[in-house]
Amino acid sequence: METSIYKMGNCAADDAAVSKAANVIKSGGLVAFPTETVYGLGADACNPEAAKKIYEAKGRPSDNPLIVHIAEFKDLAYIAKEVPKKASLLAKAFWPGPLTMIIHKNNNVPYETTGGLDTVAVRMPDHFVARRLIQMSGRLIAAPSANASGRPSPTLAEHVAEDLGGKIPIILDGGEVGIGLESTIVDLTEEIPLILRPGYITKAMLERIIGEVKTDPGILAAGDGARPKAPGMKYRHYAPRASLTVVNGNKEAVIRKINELTDKMRAKGKKVGVIGTDETAKAYRGDMVLSLGAREDEDVIARRLYRILREFDEGEADVIYSESFETPGIGQAIMNRLLKAAGHQVLDVAEYGGSKIV
Ligand code: AMP
Ligand code: MG
Repeated sequence: METSIYKMGNCAADDAAVSKAANVIKSGGLVAFPTETVYGLGADACNPEAAKKIYEAKGRPSDNPLIVHIAEFKDLAYIAKEVPKKASLLAKAFWPGPLTMIIHKNNNVPYETTGGLDTVAVRMPDHFVARRLIQMSGRLIAAPSANASGRPSPTLAEHVAEDLGGKIPIILDGGEVGIGLESTIVDLTEEIPLILRPGYITKAMLERIIGEVKTDPGILAAGDGARPKAPGMKYRHYAPRASLTVVNGNKEAVIRKINELTDKMRAKGKKVGVIGTDETAKAYRGDMVLSLGAREDEDVIARRLYRILREFDEGEADVIYSESFETPGIGQAIMNRLLKAAGHQVLDVAEYGGSKIV
């Protein structure tokens, strides 16, 4: 299959391309499109055969449910068994935006879309191309991230083409996404709402609107702890091909440790990648040293993370060492993705002393 890539940005051309894409969705096909979080791979959410194609194209396990994207708040009632009060409050505060809510589904949503679950994940994206596609197709669009299963999520149309070129008919190219990490997922079917995946919308932001919110202990555990409730969070996701280790501790100790490991690996003939920041990148001796940006600019770090993981693949790094990024804001989401990419391989070097890295 040939994949057509349409650049978005010029309004008239956009409508012609989005209209072609909308026809593909209506006829049960797949379209990759930009959202503010990452690129999505979309299909008609209420057409079971269309939803199945998403799993096939991504190589995604069929128990990993899709997120249904809507363009207007009233669309929620079309797929919900009932719309919880807290869903209305959160929608008012954060939609359109990077927040996915889990609610009980009704029969309009097939089990192919929800991975066999009686609940459905719903989000209203904050991106004009995504919204226009939903509106022009007249369908709700089920869309996971538009990467091959297991690879880092795409933040550029080029990433989608790398993974899915030849497998889907259309990619709508909206340039680099704004946020770069997947949406926060909050489960409203629990007595106390539960965060199943951290993202740009933090626990504190949710609590300001709906009161107490908990975080799924399964997403913080290092692999063998509690099982995460979002089926997708149990897979080794977001991963570059090289083995990645996060080195955690004070700035000087982290630099010293990463350089020591780099020398050891290079002596064995391995190509070493290092993920640093603008403040530290010059201090490393790796073959590929990439900076995520200035440490205090978390938005830039979030936006660049997946892109940089893919760059290490292109550069054929064998091993990667990364600094750690835990902070109370989006740092939690950054660390969650980094730890998953690393398969929870973390080296703690705090005992070396020195000034704190964060
Ligand atoms: P992706 O869009 O590729 O980031 O994947 C969607 C994420 O949402 C995966 O981690 C899924 O497991 C999660 N998800 C979707 N629907 C549900 C649901 N009904 N219950 C729990 N998690 C869900
Ligand atoms: Mg994904």
